[in-house]
Amino acid sequence: MSILITGGTGYIGSHCAVELLKNNFEVVLLDNLSNSTEAVCKHLYKICGKKPNFYRGNINNEEVLDYIFKCFDIKAVIHCAGLKAVGESVLKPIEYHENNVEGTKSLLSVMQKHDVYKLIFSSSASVYGNPEYHPIDEMHPLNPLNPYASSKVKIEEILKKLSIENSKWKILSLRYFNPIGAHDSYLLGDDPTGQPNNLFPFIMKVAMGEREELEIFGNDYNTPDGTGIRDYIHIMDLVDGHISSMLYLEKMEASLNYENINLGAGRGYSVLEVLDSFETVNNLKIPYRFTERREGDVDNSYANISKAKVKLDWMPKRTIEDMCTSAWSFQKKKILV
Ligand code: NAD
Ligand code: UDP
Repeated sequence: MSILITGGTGYIGSHCAVELLKNNFEVVLLDNLSNSTEAVCKHLYKICGKKPNFYRGNINNEEVLDYIFKCFDIKAVIHCAGLKAVGESVLKPIEYHENNVEGTKSLLSVMQKHDVYKLIFSSSASVYGNPEYHPIDEMHPLNPLNPYASSKVKIEEILKKLSIENSKWKILSLRYFNPIGAHDSYLLGDDPTGQPNNLFPFIMKVAMGEREELEIFGNDYNTPDGTGIRDYIHIMDLVDGHISSMLYLEKMEASLNYENINLGAGRGYSVLEVLDSFETVNNLKIPYRFTERREGDVDNSYANISKAKVKLDWMPKRTIEDMCTSAWSFQKKKILV
């Protein structure tokens, strides 16, 4: 039996693949390589001694999907494929809708055709918009502030509707907070091919000397030190959450076939706190300067993870120090490999 991971050579997909391969699942990766490279497959082989089945293709292409579902006995899909840059989504809303929403529809239609009804979807904390309270639980109202977040909300609506119409579906929509860090081998990590968007890839660029300083977007937020607070979660804790989700899908009650679940560490760190931790554990200095706020950024966002703890029997284990050590170790190793 195989698991299909869409966006499988990307950051989250590749880390899920490594754990599934280690647990003796057959893994099929589909990715159009718009934000990753095929080199990931080589690294997966180095880590696990097993090759994933890789297909370069687009989730919008039903022929490719159909071919994969014909070739493999797919049991479930982890659907990570998607465009994820908030700023870019404001400039290209149609492209984000086409890629993320229409692409998901194609995937669902081919899954249904092949009687595959188990799905784990990569959603995002961005669906909550500007938080009305903390910590944010899954009942928090949705308020997408940009086309990227809207695409996630639209997909969740489609998934929920589908699950109501056909009780064969078993779907978990995992709302990720801020995954960072790398696999313990340091052969896999966050390695975007496009323009980086998130805090850590920018910290890496400064640490590598490719940029002179980090721009910290705003120091006048309503937080103790004025910089934005986020809920950073180690990528391997996030992956553990997917493995637990796979197990949960097997035993999900018949009456309950769609759920939203937050995956975060359950506590927030400001940009300055993250930088301090990164500098301390890696014995590095990261020069920075404060700039204007980034449009659409919220002051503070951290998760209530009670539902994941109870339903998935899952707990994040790694600290912010682990995350900072691991992110830099991956970056250093990348230069050598
Ligand atoms: P990523 O860009 O590293 O991985 C996504 C992969 O999907 C890339 O390899 C890209 O080439 C591929 N892809 C994009 N569109 C595709 C298409 N139409 N067909 C096939 N492949 C396609 O991103 P990631 O960080 O691994 O994120 C995975 C998912 O998790 C995304 O859906 C993202 O929105 C979501 N998410 C990520 C974060 C985060 O901070 N990393 C937070 C919340 C949610
Ligand atoms: N951030 C920053 N400089 C950067 C990138 C991000 O100061 O170059 C800040 C951003 O304003 C936010 C935090 O770092 O407060 C996390 O940003 P990221 O884009 O990683 O996550 P998101 O805001 O999407 O949750």
